[in-house]
Parts: sequence; C-alpha cells; structure tokens
Amino acid sequence: MSLETIAMNSVVQINYVLRGDDGAVIDQSEPGEPLTYMHGHHQIVVGLENALAGKNVGDKVEVKVQPEEGYGRRDGTPQPIDRSAFPASAVLEPGTQFIARAPDGSPFPIWIAGVSGNTIFIDRNHPLAGKILHFTAEVTGVRQATAEELSHGHVHGPGGHHHH
Ligand code: ZN
Repeated sequence: MSLETIAMNSVVQINYVLRGDDGAVIDQSEPGEPLTYMHGHHQIVVGLENALAGKNVGDKVEVKVQPEEGYGRRDGTPQPIDRSAFPASAVLEPGTQFIARAPDGSPFPIWIAGVSGNTIFIDRNHPLAGKILHFTAEVTGVRQATAEELSHGHVHGPGGHHHH
C-alpha cells in the first residue's frame, strides 16, 4: 500500500468546518461531499493549504488563519450605486457576488454589502476579508494528479471539473 503525502500538485479531498472568531459556523463541507482541490495552486485559502502540506489521509488539522492568509485585509468601504446598474432580474442581497468590468474590460468581483431602496452598496472586498478564520479539516483522500489534470491545473472527475 502506498501512503501519499500532500505535496505540490496532489489531488486532495478534505472535510472541513470554517468558524469565525465568535465560534459560529460560516461554512462547511456537506456530509459525504468532501472539498476536492489541487494542492499548491491557491485553490483554497492559503493558510489552510499551508497547514495541510505534508499531511496524509486520516490526519486532522486545526488552524487559525489571519486575513493575510485568508481573504485579505479590508481595503476601502462599500460604495453606493443605483440599482439600474444591475440587470432588472438580478437578485440583490447582501453577500451576492457579481463580476464587474473595469474601464479596460478586465473582470473583477464585487459583492453586495447592503441595499437601501434603489441604492445598492457594493464592496470590492470579499465578505470574509479582514476576518480571522478558524478551520478544522480532516484529510479524506490524497492522490497524484493525472498528466491531463496537471496540464489543466485543476482536478477532473468526482468533486472536480467536468468538461463537456
Ligand atoms: Zn480540465
């Protein structure tokens, strides 16, 4: 039997729970549906990824992640824009993510921070920016990436990317 250790390009499966500083659950993997990612490509929060390096199936990690290794520090404050800037059918709720375009056409994510009548407050910060994150995770799978996965830079198959 071979025991894979998590290293660059490993395909890793984890069950995880993310809590905030107050202990409340922010996010977690669904039972029987582990998160699958390719290690070393910052497809998951960097602080969690670093904590998983060198681990094996069955290992558990508990890590406190500072904003610098999480979703970054907050930069700037939410800005008000008129609702008409959004498609009429768009659901505008706090936390909803949209892709905006800079004047040069490059895409960047924005999040709805608040709604007041026809005024929508948009924020370029991820909702978890500035927050300390507490992860507990258990490694449920580790394997080497296939040549095709390596060339694409992402995982294929169950839990991963599907091409049609
Ligand atoms: Zn692919």
